[in-house]
Amino acid sequence: MPPAHPFDDDKLKEECGIFGVLGTVDAANFVALGLHALQHRGQEAGGIVSYHPDHGFNSARRFGYVRDNFTSQKVMETLPGALSIGHVRYSTAGSKGQTAIRDVQPFFGEFAMGGAAIAHNGNITNADALRRELIERGSIFQSSSDSECIIHLMARSLQRNIPERMEDALRRVEGAFSVVAMTRTKLIGVRDPLGVRPLVLGQLPTGWVLSSETCALDIIGAEFVREIEPGEMVVITEAGVESHHPFRRQKSRFCIFEHVYFSRPDSILGGRSVYETRENIGRELAKEAPVEADLVCPVPDSGTPAAIGYSLESGIPYAMGIIRNQYMGRTFIEPTEQIRNMGVRLKLNVNRALIKGKRVILVDDSVVRGTTSRKIKEMILDAGAKEVHFRIASPPTAWPCFYGVDTPQREKLLAATMSEAEMTEHLGVDSLKFISLDGLYRAVGEANGRDASSPQYCDACFSGEYPVEPADMIEKGFEMKAAE
Ligand code: SF4
Repeated sequence: MPPAHPFDDDKLKEECGIFGVLGTVDAANFVALGLHALQHRGQEAGGIVSYHPDHGFNSARRFGYVRDNFTSQKVMETLPGALSIGHVRYSTAGSKGQTAIRDVQPFFGEFAMGGAAIAHNGNITNADALRRELIERGSIFQSSSDSECIIHLMARSLQRNIPERMEDALRRVEGAFSVVAMTRTKLIGVRDPLGVRPLVLGQLPTGWVLSSETCALDIIGAEFVREIEPGEMVVITEAGVESHHPFRRQKSRFCIFEHVYFSRPDSILGGRSVYETRENIGRELAKEAPVEADLVCPVPDSGTPAAIGYSLESGIPYAMGIIRNQYMGRTFIEPTEQIRNMGVRLKLNVNRALIKGKRVILVDDSVVRGTTSRKIKEMILDAGAKEVHFRIASPPTAWPCFYGVDTPQREKLLAATMSEAEMTEHLGVDSLKFISLDGLYRAVGEANGRDASSPQYCDACFSGEYPVEPADMIEKGFEMKAAE
């Protein structure tokens, strides 16, 4: 499947979104709405499973957007019941970039004590080894997804009930996982011991909700209750929420990039508004990397809150120097290579009247390959800008993510092969500055910055310090950063 828009090649791509509801009539309708609000976490495909005592488990799995697949009465009528979970996907493991329908979650397993469906956000870093072991012992895999290992590990467990089998299975799994699962009577949520990926609990007047982000609670009018703790499993029934801690307690290492880019700005993470955090990042950036200029412009849309923060801190006026075409969809760019080569211009246009003759600060969330940054710089200069200064709301992305985010191979990351000065020259801009790792930590609320001896977040894509060794990738030849 080609990229959804010309930007997709040059952004880290978030993973997946998961959502579950127990205790409302036609829970699958709520799940569809929740997944729609989580669509930014995965656009390739989506799936919903529901359970009804008279109709058993039912599922629908489709390619494409939630709004195109899960809005018709005809489809939603096939998903009856008061218990339902769903998943939106951008493939981070398995059939990367060419999702096969068999890789679309939730996955389902039939056990002696009944069926269970699971939806997983994250990436299992020892999935290859587990898969080999499971296949040798007779498991027959249906998909190429790492997440399917969880179902097979559950099938092999000798525990009496499904939550206990899930605990057993997840103790064998390494890496990042937030999981939403369901049986005939239970909605289950789990976060890995480091809590790398998010998962929150919400409440409806008659039921409970699990969601990757709080913005998806808002769409169905659910109250935010709390985040599922790192290493916690919640088992939810009509009687209420039971909390278990099946893993050895560890210091949490939440993904710091969720604050920078992945989560929606109207979500709350760790008790903080994502929007406000991004504005803080812009303020820190203005303190760390000031420059004389006439305008601060965001690279839409993800650079917007940081650009506002930069403008507020520096006193340099904020302006929409680049306008995004909201209606630039996949259908238009797919047909010909010629149209695709027009690239960024299809998606973004420069506001010439504003830019002409100005010294412009462009604020973006990250630089991955740098291809988009170069094109945007050219557009700004073509529009008559006098100077172009890039300010980036994250540190240089120099390492790939193995925890559920699609990143190019290390050699393709601009910051992996070039210094800041080399990148400035390569992009052809008057200046380029990234927020420091300490500055980013301050912006997310760590007043003293990063604790180098025991970092408070996962920041491996910036620091090269992986909180969980990526065993499969090391086996494939990935070289970890040498100890300093
Ligand atoms: S490596 Fe980067 S993107 Fe991946 S989990 Fe860690 S901070 Fe997030």
